[in-house]
Amino acid sequence: MLEGKHAIVTGGSRGIGKAIAIELAKQGASVAVIYAGNQMAAMETVNEIKALGRDAMAIKCDVASFEGTKEAVKEVLGAFSKVDILVNNAGVTKDGLLLSMTEESFDLVVDTNLKGTFHMIRHLYSPMMKQRQGRIINLSSVAGLMGNPGQANYAGAKAGIIGLTKTVAKELAGRGITCNAVAPGFIDTDMTATLPDKIKEQALEQIPLKRMGNAEEVAKLVAFLASDNAAYITGEVIRIDGGLCM
Ligand code: NDP
Repeated sequence: MLEGKHAIVTGGSRGIGKAIAIELAKQGASVAVIYAGNQMAAMETVNEIKALGRDAMAIKCDVASFEGTKEAVKEVLGAFSKVDILVNNAGVTKDGLLLSMTEESFDLVVDTNLKGTFHMIRHLYSPMMKQRQGRIINLSSVAGLMGNPGQANYAGAKAGIIGLTKTVAKELAGRGITCNAVAPGFIDTDMTATLPDKIKEQALEQIPLKRMGNAEEVAKLVAFLASDNAAYITGEVIRIDGGLCM
């Protein structure tokens, strides 16, 4: 269980991040939720956590900003005094074939998914090192393992997260800090809701378990990686994809 632990979940206002924030709180953690702009959704997450009897706060912050994330981490450390669990979940897609992909859409996706993960770890590196304990969990994707037509920006960012995860795991292992990645397949959230039906049908055909996953299933895996039960797992990438990518 996670009693007495303090967590940050980026992108905790919706989808997988919201489910993670709530699951961590159910297991005893207080949670700071970082969101991009959807204040109402972020406050809903905060209120649900508070209803569970845990501390919660919401901070509006673009994870793509080095200075913005620095301030956000400072604010959380001011309120919680320490951060034991960092979940880098904030992410966006902007799909299109590479032939016509703009620099802007490549940068947006890499800056949010990959650089955002770097920023958060960078600002918590020293405080976690001093604590000599911590858990970092990064959301990658099966797209980062397999590649995916139309997602050069996203697959590149999510593959980058795997390299980043393994490097951080090696740098911080000596301080009792683990760093792992989770690679979901098709999970039912706003992100996948916009996919054309044809793409969804094709995906379902390829998934051995023949269904999409749900955010709560990913959240339970993340909460396990955040717990003491996962103390001997680091630098790992765990797929949660109904068998899609085996
Ligand atoms: P959603 O689109 O449902 O939610 C995205 C979340 O990220 C929101 O909370 C949003 O905040 C936040 N966010 C977006 N951009 C920024 C930013 N620049 N700064 C801070 N927060 C930001 O996504 P999912 O829940 O589906 O995905 C969560 C993670 O899981 C992502 O990293 C995604 O790539 C990964 N993933 C998802 C899969 C899926 O099938 N859904 C599959 C594989 C991986 P706000 O509400 O304010 O907009």
